[in-house]
Parts: sequence; structure tokens; C-alpha cells
Amino acid sequence: MVQQFMRIDPKIAKILENAWAGVSASRQDCLHLLACNEHSLEAALARTAASHIIREKSDNSAIILGQIGLEAAPCPGNCGFCSFGKGHTSFEKSQLSEDAFAAKVRGFCAEDGLYGLYLMAMHAYDLDFFLRRARLARELLRGPVQLLANVGDTGPDAFREMKKAGITGVYHVCRLGEGRTTSLDPEQRIKTMENALDAGLQLFSCLEPVGPEHSDEELVDNLFIGISLGCAQHAAMRRVPVPGTPLERRGYISNLRLGQITAVVALAAFAMPGMTYIGVHEPTEIGCVSGANVVTAETGVNPRDPATDTSANRGMDMAACRNMLYDCGFHFIRRGDESKIPLGKR
Ligand code: SF4
Repeated sequence: MVQQFMRIDPKIAKILENAWAGVSASRQDCLHLLACNEHSLEAALARTAASHIIREKSDNSAIILGQIGLEAAPCPGNCGFCSFGKGHTSFEKSQLSEDAFAAKVRGFCAEDGLYGLYLMAMHAYDLDFFLRRARLARELLRGPVQLLANVGDTGPDAFREMKKAGITGVYHVCRLGEGRTTSLDPEQRIKTMENALDAGLQLFSCLEPVGPEHSDEELVDNLFIGISLGCAQHAAMRRVPVPGTPLERRGYISNLRLGQITAVVALAAFAMPGMTYIGVHEPTEIGCVSGANVVTAETGVNPRDPATDTSANRGMDMAACRNMLYDCGFHFIRRGDESKIPLGKR
């Protein structure tokens, strides 16, 4: 084993040594880390180092986010990976009723330990409807749960309205292949991220949706968008080959490669001010021992799922998320005010 360690690529050893000293990975460092084979010793060391650093920063804590898909429609974003793209979807326009929505919010509150709840809408969405749902969620949420938005391109005034309704953070991303495998404008996606920040909301970013065809350069360019904007959380997500979507035929990367990519995101982002949480999506144990400490429980419609309620298909619930985090060795989950709950398996 000692001989094995002697053979570690010296550049990788230096990147990891720097990380231990509090210096995050540069673009060049990230390219070097991503070029390692996912099953190499170097990749394993990078995953372990990322996990160790994030656990040290968070006192070995993780968080569970929830997401409710509010509506479905053939979406003009027409993303080649999404079950709602207007060119290929079988979804018709529908919205979650007030009662069904309230039941889902109450379901998330049935047990303590939800850090934040995303309300997800389509690219083109009705702001009034969204704000009504946000106000209702704020009323129903018990305890210090943060209320978050996952919506299409949005201007600063609409984000200010959301803030008044209780939203504190926004998930928004300029996706890999934006403008090529989607019908959306990459500049507008980035502008929306800036608009959220201008409105005083936190920005949650992600390197997504990663497929086997993406080059290391594309991954690095994309992951640094969130970093350059000063995101509050970062993450990695692999693309799911949703049946019937144009990108289904391209397949997906392994969870081990996703773990490696998650580790690179963590090593690039961990030194940012306030960066305590790194996500992996969909939740995996490999990701949660590779630098991730955020998992998401999902219900309602979902871009990665042709089912009308992902909680009955791909989506994990709170209990499954909690058990996964326990199995990955986390000692605490955090509420939205950062208070800690000791983590035990149920
Ligand atoms: S990912 Fe979002 S923008 Fe793209 S088609 Fe799906 S709902 Fe529309």
C-alpha cells in the first residue's frame, strides 16, 4: 500500500495538499482531477479529501431539502433531457390543487429535520399562482424551514415579490449544453441568477445535467459559473435518460463518476464564504461520501421523471434521505436555522 501511495500523481497530491491548507482547486486543478479515471487511486483520494473537508466545515452535518413540483405543461424550454420539453412531452397542462399542495407541505413537516423546501414551476410560469403557493407554504411550514424557489428565467421585480412572500433562496443554473440541447438563452439563464442575487436572495447552483458526452472542459466551465457568481450552495447532478426524451439514447454516467465530479465541485467551492453544503443529485451514497452533504426529497412532477408524482417513482422521501445520510456516517442533520438534530437510523 505504501508503494501505491508513492505512485500518486504528484500534481494530484499537490492539489489535495493545497485543499488541506484551505486553498480551493483552480480551473486547471479541476481539469486535472477530472482527467483521472473514476476508479483510480487519485480519484478515490480526491473523493475522500472532499468528504473530509466538507465534514470538517459542517461538524459532520448534512441537510435534507424537499421539493414540490407545482405544475406540469409542455415547456417552451424544450430541454432535451426533461420530461416536460414541448417537442416530446406527454404531459398536459396541470397544476397541483391547493389541497393537494397543502397535504404535501404537511407531509414534509410530519417529522423534524427539513432544512428547506423548494417550490418548482415550469420555465414559463404564473407568478401570482406561484406567490399564492409560496404564502400558503410559509403559513403551513412548522419550524425554521427555509422556503426556496426553482423557477424559469425571472426578472428582479418578480424575485422581490417572492422575497416578500417568504422565499429566501433560488435554484437556478445555466445548464450544460444550454442553447444547444435546450431552447433557452444561456445569457438569460445567467442574468436570472444575477437577478436573484440583486433581489437579496441566496443562489443555489449546480453542475448539471452531466452526461457521458460532456468534456472535462465543459464541466469545469460550467461549475465555475456558480462559483463566479458567489453561490451559497453548489452541487453536481447526472442526467437521467428519461424515456422518450431526445437525450435518452446518450445514456448516463456512473454514480462513481458522479461522486468524482461532486468531489471536484466541493474542492473548487469549499473555500467560498459561507459554503458549508454541497449537493449530489439524485441522492447517492457514493456522492455522500465524496463531498456531498445535501440530499433532496421530491414529490409532485419532476423533470427527470415521466410519472405524475415522482414520490411514487424516482423521488426519495424524507425517511429514505435520513437513512442514507446515517449510512454515510453523518452525525447530524440541520434545520433551516442551522440548529442540529442528532442523526439516528429509523
Ligand atoms: S428543464 Fe425546465 S426549462 Fe427545460 S423543459 Fe424542463 S421545465 Fe422546461
